[in-house]
Amino acid sequence: MAERKLGQRCPHANQCPVFAGKHKTPGLPLFLYRNVFCHRGQKGWDNCQQYKEFEIPENQKPNSV
Ligand code: SF4
Repeated sequence: MAERKLGQRCPHANQCPVFAGKHKTPGLPLFLYRNVFCHRGQKGWDNCQQYKEFEIPENQKPNSV
């Protein structure tokens, strides 16, 4: 796997509703949210709630059966 460096774009950006502006970004305008979380490499992604949801396997999500 490629190293996830500072400044790298989140691997989930293409399918992320937050990145696409479909969800309200908590406390920040979208362009700032992207700078602080989405384009920050692993350190930024780890602070993103949406990222954590993407990283949880389907069968471990609360609504799965
Ligand atoms: S860091 Fe969070 S908001 Fe940004 S693209 Fe990744 S999952 Fe979406």
